[in-house]
Amino acid sequence: MSHSPENAVVIGGGVAGLATALRLAPLPVTLVVAAPVGTEAATGWAQGGIAAALGDDDRPDFHAADTLAAGAGLSEPAIARRIAAAAPGAIDWLVALGTPFDRAPDGNLALGLEAAHSHRRIVHAEGDGTGRIVLETLAKAARACPSIHVIEGVRACELLTDGDGAVRGVALRDREGRVTALTARAVVLATGGLGGLYASTTNPLGATGSGLALAARAGAVLRDMEFVQFHPTAMAVGADPMPLATEALRGEGAKLINDRGERFMIEVPGKELAPRDVVARAIFAQIAQGRQVVLDARLRDVERRFPGVVALCRANGLDPAHQPIPVRPAAHYHMGGVEVDAAGRTSLAGLWACGEVASTGLHGANRLASNSLLEALAYAEWIAADIGGGAMPAAAALRAPSPLRAPSPARAEIRMLMDRQVGVVREAATLGAAVRRLGELCERDGDDLSLVARLVTQAALEREESRGGHFRTDFPVPAVESRHSQTRLADPRPDAAEVRRVA
Ligand SMILES: Cc1cc2nc3c(=O)[nH]c(=O)nc-3n(C[C@H](O)[C@H](O)[C@H](O)COP(=O)(O)OP(=O)(O)OC[C@H]3O[C@@H](n4cnc5c(N)ncnc54)[C@H](O)[C@@H]3O)c2cc1C
Repeated sequence: MSHSPENAVVIGGGVAGLATALRLAPLPVTLVVAAPVGTEAATGWAQGGIAAALGDDDRPDFHAADTLAAGAGLSEPAIARRIAAAAPGAIDWLVALGTPFDRAPDGNLALGLEAAHSHRRIVHAEGDGTGRIVLETLAKAARACPSIHVIEGVRACELLTDGDGAVRGVALRDREGRVTALTARAVVLATGGLGGLYASTTNPLGATGSGLALAARAGAVLRDMEFVQFHPTAMAVGADPMPLATEALRGEGAKLINDRGERFMIEVPGKELAPRDVVARAIFAQIAQGRQVVLDARLRDVERRFPGVVALCRANGLDPAHQPIPVRPAAHYHMGGVEVDAAGRTSLAGLWACGEVASTGLHGANRLASNSLLEALAYAEWIAADIGGGAMPAAAALRAPSPLRAPSPARAEIRMLMDRQVGVVREAATLGAAVRRLGELCERDGDDLSLVARLVTQAALEREESRGGHFRTDFPVPAVESRHSQTRLADPRPDAAEVRRVA
């Protein structure tokens, strides 16, 4: 099957893109992926699992309540309830596709515990191999699905709009720099997160928010861009990106210790299983005082229960069964994104967003562990239903694609700046300096990295409070009223750097 204008185009080959393409079947879909399907997607690296209230003592309401508590006033209650209720069905769907989740001796799904979850509800596969197994299962199903046409090794470089600003297609750039345009009945962004904008990250290095740049330049509204989650326990072993020591290790008893031998989380409510932002700041504070922090994961059966973490440690010269793991916080997940409604529609007709690139209202100011694979799976179904139910738009005259932008020449500088000035702990003077520098880079280079970094930094400067993953030393407490931030490029030309608040 080849592409036809009646196809929907889905951009991205992680859980969000693959699940959306599969859910759209038998509607024809062209799936565009920058790297070969199954590689360079954060999905494949997920270690913890997928949250679903499946235990006898658990209920979707409890799951939603935990999600809202983590979200620190910015999660939408109706969305949290709807996604928590959809979780058991999403797991059934994956099981029906052949996903070999781990099972307890009685044959039921084995359920793990993670930080800030009140119940055991993390469904996992091959211990900490969940993401890899889910990605393999979805990729195999997509390749076998006759309605999905896969184009690999090309990047979406611009959304094509008609005279009314509706998205009607996408421009693609191949490795040789050739650009082709695809018209489509619908375009779904599923391009993942932006952790790769930071020098310290657990994300694939290509996760630099390219979908956010595509949407912003087409004129879409972005929401809560300042909210980046820093994972507290990335392994400080000199690798880029940093391997992750999953939270599930702390769920099973691993302890955080400083180089004085102190268990510094002992007095903090929740101890090592406090919300991620609390643990990340506690570790950051230790490091700022010149201390080193290790995760003591010398647990019973660690090799059997966490084979992925053990392999990552060994690849970096560490034996976690006998040695503690050096850790520090790293950019891990972007709660903000392209604003979507309950059907996954963005503010632009013809454009939907799914997965980490989207802001659905689930995560608020801080994502609850193992809720993101779930969110992508739930929205994939709702987006497919919305696109499938819609009429095919009439053919339209499209604006010509803009000249190609070069890859960012200042990548290393931007990553270091984001780490130092827009990281775990933020304040006005350094954020302001970062906004000015990123503004200069936007004007000089007109590239996606400086644009997305600038949007995050500007929003962080404007949010004069601390909430969830966003902590300001100059505004250390939450504002009385919680509000979302929304931004849209004032001038959505490719090189525009100015942003304006729309609410
Ligand atoms: C180390 C790690 C552990 C995690 N553990 C968990 C966990 O246990 N549970 C959980 O729920 N979440 C976890 N997360 C978060 C979760 O993995 C991600 O949020 C989720 O996988 C995102 O899925 P996605 O499909 O949106 O993006 P991705 O899986 O990152 O896929 C993005 C895809 O888009 C493609 N792409 C990007 N830009 C373009 C472009 N311009 N043109 C074409 N293709 C493009 C990429 O090549 C890739 O195929 C973890 C994340 C990391 C990094």
